[in-house]
Amino acid sequence: MKSHFSLILLSTLQCNADCEYCFENKADDRLTLDRLGEMIRKVLDYMVEKSLRSLTIYWQGGEAMLLPPSWYEQAHELIQREADARDKQVFHSLQSNMLAYSARWNPVIASMFGNSVGTSLDYPNLHRKLLGQGPESYNEIWGRRVQEARAAGIAVQVIAVPNQATLDIGAERFYRHFVDELGITEFQVNTPFPGGDTNTVKKELPVAEVEKLSHFYLELAEVWLDRGHRHGISVGPFDTLLQHFSHEPATLPCIWGDNCANALVSIDARGYVAQCDCWVTSYPDYHYGNIFESENFGELLRTSPARQKFNERPIQLIQRDCLSCDYLSLCHGGCPVRTYTVHGSLFEKDPYCELYKVLFGRMERAAQELAREAVAARSLAA
Ligand code: SF4
Ligand code: SF4
Ligand code: SF4
Repeated sequence: MKSHFSLILLSTLQCNADCEYCFENKADDRLTLDRLGEMIRKVLDYMVEKSLRSLTIYWQGGEAMLLPPSWYEQAHELIQREADARDKQVFHSLQSNMLAYSARWNPVIASMFGNSVGTSLDYPNLHRKLLGQGPESYNEIWGRRVQEARAAGIAVQVIAVPNQATLDIGAERFYRHFVDELGITEFQVNTPFPGGDTNTVKKELPVAEVEKLSHFYLELAEVWLDRGHRHGISVGPFDTLLQHFSHEPATLPCIWGDNCANALVSIDARGYVAQCDCWVTSYPDYHYGNIFESENFGELLRTSPARQKFNERPIQLIQRDCLSCDYLSLCHGGCPVRTYTVHGSLFEKDPYCELYKVLFGRMERAAQELAREAVAARSLAA
């Protein structure tokens, strides 16, 4: 067991947007400070039991900013008090669609979230929308809020999910939009998956077009290596893969962890516990339990039949589909939720297997080339 633990905490299941590919079943539930206190005490007691030193809480929704900044200020104090009493460290990270952002958030973003916020935008944006409106109004409000936040000194990281139109315009145009037009210096490209209740948009996500997506990722890697890598632009997952293959410390995304169930859990505003945000909001059969109905969080995790399945997945894949893969020790069979939403089972390898392989190969080669360049530069200087 590692000494760090991560918690995706959905403080509310309400949202002010209506994205067509959203995997969450929205509800009116909001976490109260009393319930947060009970939840956090149980999580910290589990950390004491497991000798885990530190915790990162990823605050999400629904839309996390639908609770006011004063709520988060009180939550911060409450959590710090409980953590201090157990000699544990807690870090906080905020993921928001930024639609409700205003300057009144600045103090708590600075004090609680390290003056940093993560948000999402696709390009071209087809599916992120406000209720009853087109993607243009989403883009317009999002762009304004992000500009205001950055003007206030807040670092904004963006997650983008490629859609059919992204693949059509190509990686260079995509990169240019984020870096040159929006001035974003840190973004990450996540593969799409059809989580939650099905709809037409989810059916049309380019999930089956692994070859086309792989081509897009490879092209984007080239653009980043050429224009971003040495110029302070961070694009995930290329940057962490390059660090990994350069034998530098790298925090790889959870999709390539040895078993995400060991390092991460999600709890929603109703107290339901599951593997991550998609599982907790959309797949009740895969809930580990409810933290408010259990005296002991460790016991809830240990005895959960659903969690047992997550623990069995890497072993089954190692014995079968992934046994002879050169990248097994990096990828471990990939992400359970991507697998489940495409194959309807946990016990298959990630549907993006082929994309990962070409990406790993390209970044491994880039790391070797950079190492050779560094050796040549040293021998020239000697
Ligand atoms: S994707 Fe996020 S911002 Fe969009 S509707 Fe779902 S929870 Fe809200
Ligand atoms: S299911 Fe996938 S996205 Fe969720 S925690 Fe595991 S690896 Fe991460
Ligand atoms: S790249 Fe494919 S075969 Fe290799 S470990 Fe990942 S999912 Fe398995």
